[in-house]
Amino acid sequence: MPDVARFYGLQISRSVMTCCPFHEERTPSLKVYDDHFYCFGCGATGDCTGFVAKLFGISQFEAAKKISYDFGLNLFNREIAVPVNKGLQAENDYRMWLRKASVTISEYLTRLAKWGKIYAPRNFGEQPNPLFVESLTKRDYIEYLSEVLTYGSDKEKRQLYSSCREDIMKIRERLDKLAAAERPVKRKAI
Ligand SMILES: [Zn+2]
Repeated sequence: MPDVARFYGLQISRSVMTCCPFHEERTPSLKVYDDHFYCFGCGATGDCTGFVAKLFGISQFEAAKKISYDFGLNLFNREIAVPVNKGLQAENDYRMWLRKASVTISEYLTRLAKWGKIYAPRNFGEQPNPLFVESLTKRDYIEYLSEVLTYGSDKEKRQLYSSCREDIMKIRERLDKLAAAERPVKRKAI
């Protein structure tokens, strides 16, 4: 306690008496003991952290951290490590998914419309192209997803996130594969 009191500016006499920083006075009435202090004038009392908390107007916990820091004790390294904010992380994941999902669905919709035209059977009895069938069967559902992603409320979009997240990511993978297959093969420069 005397070390802490001195460190923060109190002049302590041999009789371990000092002027109280917590009330106006000219003759010392605050006594510093080994583990606490007591003012005979205003009755202020406490231990080291109590003293620092009162002196700087901070909480006991903040005072303990301050003493640890000021005296180089490193007592709070673990406690003051900032924990990862899981709520924020989940929200960021959702926002990222939302952007990706909108792009994916509009891309897929464009493909479905195209497949519906270019793969339409030319002759009666012709075995229909699977992409044409996909266009017929998926279009309504994908149009619905597109509408929710574009015009839906926040609540509707979040519902989509919890129910269709995986489905839409599978569509994304498929579109990426199709795009990769369509890319012209690069020739090696001779
Ligand atoms: Zn006092």
